[in-house]
Amino acid sequence: MIAVVGSLNLDLVTPVPGHPVPGETVLGGDIAQHPGGKGANQAVAAARLGGDVAFVGRVGADDAADVMLDAVRAEGVDATHITRTPGVPTGRALIAVDPAGENTIIVSPGANAHLGAADCEAAADLLRRAAVTVLQQEVPDEANHAAARLAGGIVLHNPAPAFAGAVPPPHVDVLVPNRTELAALTGTPVPETIDDVVASARKLTGAGAVIVTLGGDGVLLLEGASHLHIPAFSVRPVDTTAAGDSFCGALAVALAEGRTLEQAARWACAAAAISTTRAGAQPSLARRDEVEAFLAG
Ligand code: ADP
Repeated sequence: MIAVVGSLNLDLVTPVPGHPVPGETVLGGDIAQHPGGKGANQAVAAARLGGDVAFVGRVGADDAADVMLDAVRAEGVDATHITRTPGVPTGRALIAVDPAGENTIIVSPGANAHLGAADCEAAADLLRRAAVTVLQQEVPDEANHAAARLAGGIVLHNPAPAFAGAVPPPHVDVLVPNRTELAALTGTPVPETIDDVVASARKLTGAGAVIVTLGGDGVLLLEGASHLHIPAFSVRPVDTTAAGDSFCGALAVALAEGRTLEQAARWACAAAAISTTRAGAQPSLARRDEVEAFLAG
């Protein structure tokens, strides 16, 4: 079983002709709402790939809470440990997309900011039994630290989104940053070349293994003194939103099934590559049969 501890956000997406500057109002197109949030995306990614997934998180006491709960349950995710928080809105992301596809995003954490150590302690039995516990950084550090402490299996931490001041838990088995997140964790410039990525990743201590996701350049896997560059699968991407979430969900499934880190990383690259060929976050996430067919060529 895979435990995902993290955020649930309702994404509100509006097309805009151009992004407003401070003080300006722009008229946008019709608003669309989609279930999102890194935690929910990674849980859905893992469930769609055949993972047995349980979620630890918080929603508010509003209609958006029902949308989010329905969305994860519809994918077969166990929502028993998703708690409604009275008097607080469900997390939302306000996303404006311009004609070039550039977006600006405001995340309003709402109930996600109320997830704490007590929520993880209430789910202690689940966390102890989980083969893999998956964490990100859209909930308070306190919740992540408690989850990592209680986890009986592999702890996979995706330190996203990157922001100064976030402190990853001390007991992480597999840390999965992208280039920007690696730079934020190490306080170094965003690494350009593979050699730069290796040098930056080596500065990270406290993680058993590090997998740096490199977009169209694949991933760099660092385990002990050795490192391995796994190139990305060649696809024609249309939208890379949630590629990282797709990768983390898939990695969790493969590790829960007992694959090696290298095997799991290659499999997760296939799932993530498929997700880049489709629009949206959760709608783009691959199913297991698609990954197997993709790998079979
Ligand atoms: P994030 O979305 O967190 O920034 P990345 O952009 O690094 O994450 O993407 C995560 C993974 O998705 C990559 O390691 C790679 O396996 C896959 N991926 C992303 N972009 C592409 C692409 N253009 N072609 C093929 N695979 C991709």
